[in-house]
Amino acid sequence: MPRDPSTVPARCWHGIDPSAVCSELRTGADGLSEREAADRLRTCGANAMPAASVRGPLRRFLSQFGSLLIRILLAASAVTAALGHWTDAVVVLLVCVLNAGIGFLQEGRAERALDAIRGMLAPQATVLRDGRRRAVPAAGLVPGDAVLIEPGDRVPADLRLLRARGLRIDEAALTGESVAAAKSVESVALDSPLGDQASMAFSGTLVVAGQGLGVVVATGAGTQIGRITSLLASVRTLTTPLLEKVGTLARWVTGSVLAGAVLVFALGVLVRGHEAAGTLMAVVSLAVAAIPEGLPTILTVSLAVGVTRMAKRQAIIRRLPAVEALGSVSIVCSDKTGTLTRNEMTVKALATASGLYEVDGAGYSPRGGFRQDGRPLADPGEVPDLDGIARAAVLCNDACLRRDGGGWRIEGDPMEGALVVLGCKAGIDPDELRRLFPRTDIIPFEPEHRFMATLHHGHDGTAFVCVKGAPEQVLAMCERQPRDGRAELGDGTAPDAALWRSRVVGMASRGWRVLAIAWKPMPAGRLLLRFDDVEGGLSLLGLLGIADPPRDEAVAAVARCRSAGIRVKMITGDHADTARAIARDLGLANPQDVLTGSDIDRLSDEALRRTAPNVDVFARTSPEHKLRLVRAFQADGSVVAMTGDGVNDAPALKQADVGIAMGRKGTEAAKEAALMVLADDNFASIVAAIQEGRTVYDNLMKAILFLLPINGGESLGIVAAILLDTTLPITPVQILWVNMVSSIGLSMALAFEPPEAGAMTRPPRPPGEPILSGFLVWRTVLVSLLFLLGIFGTFHWTLDRGASLAEARAVAVNTLVCMEVFYLFSVRYLRVPSFTAIGLRGTPHVLAAVGAVVTLQLIFTHAPIMQRFFGIGTVGIDDGVAILATGAALFAVLELEKFVRRALFRRRD
Ligand code: ATP
Repeated sequence: MPRDPSTVPARCWHGIDPSAVCSELRTGADGLSEREAADRLRTCGANAMPAASVRGPLRRFLSQFGSLLIRILLAASAVTAALGHWTDAVVVLLVCVLNAGIGFLQEGRAERALDAIRGMLAPQATVLRDGRRRAVPAAGLVPGDAVLIEPGDRVPADLRLLRARGLRIDEAALTGESVAAAKSVESVALDSPLGDQASMAFSGTLVVAGQGLGVVVATGAGTQIGRITSLLASVRTLTTPLLEKVGTLARWVTGSVLAGAVLVFALGVLVRGHEAAGTLMAVVSLAVAAIPEGLPTILTVSLAVGVTRMAKRQAIIRRLPAVEALGSVSIVCSDKTGTLTRNEMTVKALATASGLYEVDGAGYSPRGGFRQDGRPLADPGEVPDLDGIARAAVLCNDACLRRDGGGWRIEGDPMEGALVVLGCKAGIDPDELRRLFPRTDIIPFEPEHRFMATLHHGHDGTAFVCVKGAPEQVLAMCERQPRDGRAELGDGTAPDAALWRSRVVGMASRGWRVLAIAWKPMPAGRLLLRFDDVEGGLSLLGLLGIADPPRDEAVAAVARCRSAGIRVKMITGDHADTARAIARDLGLANPQDVLTGSDIDRLSDEALRRTAPNVDVFARTSPEHKLRLVRAFQADGSVVAMTGDGVNDAPALKQADVGIAMGRKGTEAAKEAALMVLADDNFASIVAAIQEGRTVYDNLMKAILFLLPINGGESLGIVAAILLDTTLPITPVQILWVNMVSSIGLSMALAFEPPEAGAMTRPPRPPGEPILSGFLVWRTVLVSLLFLLGIFGTFHWTLDRGASLAEARAVAVNTLVCMEVFYLFSVRYLRVPSFTAIGLRGTPHVLAAVGAVVTLQLIFTHAPIMQRFFGIGTVGIDDGVAILATGAALFAVLELEKFVRRALFRRRD
């Protein structure tokens, strides 16, 4: 039976010695075995908070009646009932229920789609199982698991720390304290409050610095945060600024309809002297005809379809506003490593005191050798400085090389993996070397200081430190004298700075990432490493040139951005020359001018706003520079998408219009700050998402442009009938049938429209662009008038041929639906011709919608019960031909309109 962890009293793990904690939980610093973890998961249950109760189906259904449009329809039903028109009242009521039903089902589907996508973002944790590092879903953690934490991680469960190295944790989520708490492994007094329990890392808090290893002591609802909140607040927002704008539009339309209805009623009764009850009925039909009932549902579905499509293209939307913001992005700021480049690193060359060497071999295969001046080296181990740099590269390193089927796989950072491969090529056995010189301490790599240092001890008592990092950093450490004057321990000889710097530039201009490696002996008794130990007095071992070629798909995606009027900016921590060479390979607009982090520091905000837009490459930057750059671009009027992965990238991601976190190498902190997460860390996926964002907006516009003129045409028909004192060509119930069955059915197909061919060859949409653009108003008026003409024309044509009113109405309704079908094919392409092979072929969604509408329309027209209920007569063959001809005429007129507009537009260009 799974035990409810919340019923287990909290232990005072913070006051117990780490070894006692381990023995009590039957675990150790190597973690549990996979089998034991699986057994414990069965008994303890998943490490998850109980989900908050979601809105029940009844509440969701009832909430559909909250919309203004539906309320007006309900009022219309009440009015018709009061006037004794029972059939109409019941039909209007049925329509409300049907509308709510469709809304309920579609929104349910949309919510489920969004939930499924949220599930794809389940947090991960790094654990040691059977002594090996593994990434597992945080929900699979059990008491006793050994968990590794590093900056940017959300602590996945309550941990008793076994190791802490410079570890600082932001516990604001738990204690409200905004200053990050320093952590250590020493037990603290049993009665310490949560904020003072330095030996613990609590679930839900954020690691801001250092590294730590802890053993899980509580999971899920049993954690401290679980005890406080116990329910996981679920964020279910189905609204975005655009949806709100559309909501305003819908309210505006409704308000105008009501005002118009009152006016028409007054004119009808007071000026034309009609009888009040009859006019009221006609005015009710006006309201029913003019209100775009289906609009809110279609918009929600369009967004959900967009989100699902983006997920298929590896872009996971965390918050819906990202979808529409993506459509108007004008600048994409991207990291280089792993996003624009492949992150498959290979050491291509090394430079040591004895000369320059090229490295053979491809990928992560440890096979390959070294050449000097084109001649292979028989035994690299014989060249002492080559052997020395390779050993240091393997020791100052956390990555492992593993066999994977027939190939090789890296566990850990790909660049460090490339160094392990280099070591193997130099004849070193990495595991053996790491056993011979165990590591006692580490200064982990942080982008802020750009180096990593490790302290090692030989079994003969010797101690030394290995350092690798950005060449500027490491060369400075070699040139500087040690602060404590312990020069006698290292040779401390300052390298020939000019020579090494020219070598760095030589390697970097080939697009290689350059890494410098150095070392320094240490006093034998030293077990801890401090920053000032490596500040100076290091001996340079040499440089490594590491290739990380651009992704082919990124090159293509950059070209697509250029044609779509989107400027790509590369913001990297790498060397300026490396960045410039990669930017050239990628085809960025201006690869030549590079601004470095220190250049940015020298510029005022205003100067940066003027300079940055013309520069596409930013090198040696830190996360603070990213934030300043986003602000500068935004101040210049751009809509900015920005990528990031580290904990310190969070402010820039939040500031950007679309913050994009990396799904694979990104920290939890970055993912939480972002609106979108890239599942494959690939730049091309950003561009795919932008295309989908533009498509969602297009499809929303198409749906609006489809519905408004139809409603406009219907209502103009009624207004004309009242004011000209003629018979209504279509009755309110018939209009409701059309609105509910064909309008919604057909317009729903528009939510699934694929991207238009020109979606990525036009400039981004201006962010503040109102929905009611001049184009939209013009089209709505034009098409409304065409619908009016079609409906009235066929109605009177049929009457003039001696048909009954019921028959003429049948023809008018069918003309309306037929024109809708033709109009659907026209509106699928807003600006370009629809009369093309692809345009006429439609999509499966369009064909299914048309098929369903035609079938229902045949039943509506020919089934006796429907004829009786809706008050229509039979439609003859010649009527059918006229109906089809009217639809085709509408299509032809609109094709002509597109042609003329394009000709005018082009001339203006
Ligand atoms: P971006 O992903 O933003 O393009 P980047 O990954 O190229 O940036 P950083 O990770 O900030 O840049 O690295 C900056 C520099 O720090 C690198 O050019 C390299 O010289 C050095 N560096 C990177 N990783 C390590 C590491 N693990 N150990 C030591 N030095 C490193």
